[in-house]
Amino acid sequence: VGVTVPLALSDGETYEHGEWLTGKEQARLLHLEQRAAQRKRHRKPGERTSRRLHRTYDQIAGLRAKAKRRAVDWQHQTTTAIARTYGTVVVEALTITNMVKSAKGTIEEPGRNVAQKSGLNRSISGQAWGRTVTMLTYKTAQLGGTLHKVPAPGTSRRCSACGFTTPGSRESQAVFVCKNPACGWSGNADHNAARNVLYLYRMGLALIPAAGRAVVRRAKRVKPAAAR
Ligand SMILES: [Zn+2]
Repeated sequence: VGVTVPLALSDGETYEHGEWLTGKEQARLLHLEQRAAQRKRHRKPGERTSRRLHRTYDQIAGLRAKAKRRAVDWQHQTTTAIARTYGTVVVEALTITNMVKSAKGTIEEPGRNVAQKSGLNRSISGQAWGRTVTMLTYKTAQLGGTLHKVPAPGTSRRCSACGFTTPGSRESQAVFVCKNPACGWSGNADHNAARNVLYLYRMGLALIPAAGRAVVRRAKRVKPAAAR
């Protein structure tokens, strides 16, 4: 999962998409949200939600559903293409909740670059990474391939050419420049991270075959029902 591109692969391939809603649709969504907020504000205590407000809520939900449908369409196309092209797919086991939490920080220690990080969080949850992985899992399985999850801390800071890791190696969100004087490799930061994910897999760090984990979870859920 990329920061500058939605999906970056270790062979340099990237998968991108435009905005889910057109400029017109985005403007309309904003307008509807503002209208809903205003109507809610002017509601007297204990007053029921008016028909007009309900209608506005429905229109908002309609636009959000449209955006989601388009996102899911894109995910289906992308994951099908990946599952058809590659026999082994390795993904980073991201902890999205931690990333969302860490951006704001605490009052004593406010987070840095909160705006950029919350933008990053939006793009990750907006693309619904979990859904992408789910699709990849069953599509690779259907086509005779496998999907592996790699616990991958530091993949964005490690140089994929020489293995040198420093926090400063990432010059910007887009470009990675290795600080090892003997190396100096530079390239797209997401591509670098993808190469690191593949490296970790080759080192034998793929701990959890995704399908195996799903089976374990299902077995746990069945127990209480059987006891009844
Ligand atoms: Zn290097």
